[in-house]
Amino acid sequence: MKVTIVGMWNSFPNGTEPTSGYLVEKDGVRILIDAGSGIAGHIQKYINIHDLDYIILSHYHHDHAGDVEAFMLARKVARQLRRVDRNLKIYGPESGATAKEIRRAKYSTFLPVRAQKVYTIGPFKLEFHRNEHTVETYAIRVTDNNGAVFVHTSDTCYRGSLVRFAFGADLLIVDSKLYEGFDGKVEGHMNAEEAGRLASKADAQLTILSNLPHHGEQEVLLDSAKQHPTGSIRLAEAGMTIEI
Ligand SMILES: [Zn+2]
Repeated sequence: MKVTIVGMWNSFPNGTEPTSGYLVEKDGVRILIDAGSGIAGHIQKYINIHDLDYIILSHYHHDHAGDVEAFMLARKVARQLRRVDRNLKIYGPESGATAKEIRRAKYSTFLPVRAQKVYTIGPFKLEFHRNEHTVETYAIRVTDNNGAVFVHTSDTCYRGSLVRFAFGADLLIVDSKLYEGFDGKVEGHMNAEEAGRLASKADAQLTILSNLPHHGEQEVLLDSAKQHPTGSIRLAEAGMTIEI
């Protein structure tokens, strides 16, 4: 599968770079994981927005789901112009006002996510892990038909169950919003040391620190994560593509 980091900032877009959004592609099937603010515009650097039929939302905070309405409106326009004959399928947590809005939208279909269920979309198998965050939030494990595994933690405190969920990932994109020393439990995030610990214990081949903060020196995040022995580890960059 091919994974494109469309955006990776925490909270709000940074100049011309959006918040969280990861495009996963294989065999002509495209899935967008998270649709944070700025993603609906920037995804059009890579694909035609009308060719995207699946969006998975880890939760409904603005930096992960702020652009979902833009995608729904794009589908509405495409349907009215008869350019597309399919609904946009949006998977996400059951709780929250955004879920209700998606359910009400005429040209979108809402599919609630559950932790113990396996979902299939084209060549992809999707599984979900219930995170510890301020709202209902899920980590996502995507396995393709060749057995390649991509795990996106989204926002969460460090949890032992997440190690098991992410184990053996070829690509692990980790919430690493906080610098080492910050207690992530206060607002439901991992700091960079915990992100590195997760990568190490999960034996991930390539780890990318994402959901990056707007302050401080990001290289310090990398140094903190690297104190744990692991495979390759990098900082997320908008436009980065990874083949696994
Ligand atoms: Zn969040």
